[in-house]
Formats: sequence, C-alpha cells, structure tokens
Amino acid sequence: MLPNCKQVAEQVSENIDQPLTGMRWLKFKWHLLLCAYCRRYNKQLVISSKTVESMGDELQPSQVLRENVTRSYQEIHCEHKHDN
Ligand SMILES: [Zn+2]
Repeated sequence: MLPNCKQVAEQVSENIDQPLTGMRWLKFKWHLLLCAYCRRYNKQLVISSKTVESMGDELQPSQVLRENVTRSYQEIHCEHKHDN
C-alpha cells in the first residue's frame, strides 16, 4: 500500500529534516510520481527550505517551513477533497 496524501505531506517535511530511506523513500517517491498535488507540495517545500537556509540559522527551518507551507498545502488539497 502506498501512503496517502496526508502521510506523504508529513514525509515531505520529514524528508527535508532527515532524508527518508528504504521502502519508505520508495513509496514516498512512488506517490509523488502518481500524485500531482503532492509533487507540487514537495517542490514548494524544497524551494522554501532553500529560502529559509539562505535566510540564516536563527530560525528552526522545519518549524518555519511547517508554518509557511501548511496553508498552501491546504489550498492545494482543497481542490481534490471532493473525491473523499
Ligand atoms: Zn498525494
């Protein structure tokens, strides 16, 4: 079974803190291949993490990221909530 979008969203930020390995990574990548929403979310988060890094080390990157991206993630995912 592949992880669902919610699990993948969690793994996206986890993967930035510490890269996923083994089967978890494989399933994560597989989901991204199939799911345009999570692909977009992942891309956005990777870009934001680079922005945060370039801003300096005063802030906890993952904490800032979660705050920044949670909103955009909800925006992205409300589009396909109706199939639930
Ligand atoms: Zn997804």
